[in-house]
Amino acid sequence: MNYADIKFPDIQDGEGIRVALYVSGCHFHCKECHNKEAWDFSFGKKFTSDTIDEIMNLLKKPYVQGLSLLGGEPLEPANQEGLLPLVKRVKEELPKKDIWCWTGYNFDTDILPKMYVQNKVTKELLKNIDIMVDGQFEIENKIADLAFRGSTNQRKIDVQKSLVKGELVRLKFGDEARYETKKPKIMYFEEFKKSNKDLTNQESNNTIPVNFDIFEKSVQKQEPIREKTIQETIAAKGIE
Ligand code: SF4
Repeated sequence: MNYADIKFPDIQDGEGIRVALYVSGCHFHCKECHNKEAWDFSFGKKFTSDTIDEIMNLLKKPYVQGLSLLGGEPLEPANQEGLLPLVKRVKEELPKKDIWCWTGYNFDTDILPKMYVQNKVTKELLKNIDIMVDGQFEIENKIADLAFRGSTNQRKIDVQKSLVKGELVRLKFGDEARYETKKPKIMYFEEFKKSNKDLTNQESNNTIPVNFDIFEKSVQKQEPIREKTIQETIAAKGIE
């Protein structure tokens, strides 16, 4: 296996401070993929036992929450073989560190009923992964501020619970509540005005601008921001 990059410290690919490993090789070729150079399986450097030692040393730092596996495609068969010794070592030597993995495969149609059942490497690999973000990146479903996913078709999955239940168990933290239940995002009015030109229609429809002064007072008093307060604020300020 080759890898394109090791990012440290990484704060974008998962929760907390992380070590992110970008493996090389991906056959999905999603439109507007950000890591096109890593489609090539021979891109980057050879992944060796020294690379594993390097990652382990970074993970040992007490402030590091875990390891993120991205690509390229971590679940390409050749990459699964390459990653297995790493994830096993992390869970054996540093069991408190979590492991997140991004894949273009769909968990409930490709991974659980097929790869997991047919390939013992996949089975071993999945035993060691905590959270998986699945599905190919879809530019038409892209929203700029999604948490740990690029497009709304992708899902954050609790891998261990899914394996026990035999079905996909989703995790919905971050953005899902806002985009999937249509609960609006609350944004300061000034911030909304500044960013409005960059918002897609979907984002704009899901955003309620709130006057800074009134909003700030509620925050200072630690009061919950109620729907009524927001509506009154909008009406009082005549926000267009
Ligand atoms: S699965 Fe990921 S790395 Fe592969 S083409 Fe899609 S976005 Fe790019």
